[in-house]
Amino acid sequence: MITPSDHALLHWYDRHRRTLPWRAEGGRTPDPYHVWLSEIMLQQTTVTAVIPYYQKFLALFPTVRALATAPQEQVLAAWAGLGYYARARNLHACAQAVVARGGFPAQVAELRTLPGIGVYTAAAIAAIAFGVPVVPVDGNVERITARLFDEHTPLPGARKVLARLAEGLNTGAEAQARPSDFAQALFDLGASVCVPRTPACGVCPWQTSCAGQAAGTAATLPRKMPKVARPVRHGVHFFVVDEAGQVLLQRRPETGLLAAMTEIPGTPWQATAWPEAEALASAPVRAVWQKAGMVRHVFTHFSLEIIVLAARVARFGNAEVGQGFLLPVTRLQGAALPSVMRKCVAVGMQGLSESESLSG
Ligand code: SF4
Repeated sequence: MITPSDHALLHWYDRHRRTLPWRAEGGRTPDPYHVWLSEIMLQQTTVTAVIPYYQKFLALFPTVRALATAPQEQVLAAWAGLGYYARARNLHACAQAVVARGGFPAQVAELRTLPGIGVYTAAAIAAIAFGVPVVPVDGNVERITARLFDEHTPLPGARKVLARLAEGLNTGAEAQARPSDFAQALFDLGASVCVPRTPACGVCPWQTSCAGQAAGTAATLPRKMPKVARPVRHGVHFFVVDEAGQVLLQRRPETGLLAAMTEIPGTPWQATAWPEAEALASAPVRAVWQKAGMVRHVFTHFSLEIIVLAARVARFGNAEVGQGFLLPVTRLQGAALPSVMRKCVAVGMQGLSESESLSG
């Protein structure tokens, strides 16, 4: 196999590089805070979905120090909707650790000691922000590498061999001289040319050195082990509003899934559907509950089906608020509600407004 040319990739990158808000202009060094923040967010979702969150974070927390000193609740609220809240807590803890040590470290090994920074993110920050000649290997780079070397071992088992092969991609003199651009060129190639189902090999700078393209297998790579079906869990949550327009909320436990996030009260999530009478025993107030609808949400290890019951009450007694708290419905937008709870609130509000229009 012909070694993929670093010159060809960088030449292509110089003409086709994407403009992204966290990227520096050509030839300038990006701010490590911007690189780190974008990389943590990109672990969650696509570039298009990340851009508004990234801009919101920079507006709220323009520096790593501003993020470090912000209340955790504010950081979680700004993150709400991106999912995996453990990452938001790690983001906050990492900002504090960076400020405590006087700035981001430049080397991969030191970066890895910071909260929430794994192998890939450490390599991405070191290469992009500090010009360390390492190849960050994410899903895009795994795909490109599997195709370049026509590697058929399925993921996740192939991860080590693909990482080893990818490490050899930047041994040319130009890649060593431009580590930041080389890493970003790989990302751009994966995002716009060597895309998942239909690689655009005809416009690829590595077409002549790609074994997968030559063998006609590129589009089928990387191979993956078949996914195991996710188990389903069931819950019932209660959306209740008083005459003053306040909704009853509570904070989830400090550990576990969606730790410390805000939710509307509900049952535990269990493997079988809740019989109505058992679910109502968990209701936070006595009220005329009506079924507002069903919410489905997919977590990494299970799918969740939530029945949302909705009701209005005149006012909440102290005992009913209990460990929870009241928030005006108009302020729900800014609360640290995870996506699944935003869906529940939307269904609850819709249910209440429909029943009122029927009875009114
Ligand atoms: Fe990907 Fe095709 Fe380029 Fe190979 S030639 S790296 S399969 S786009």
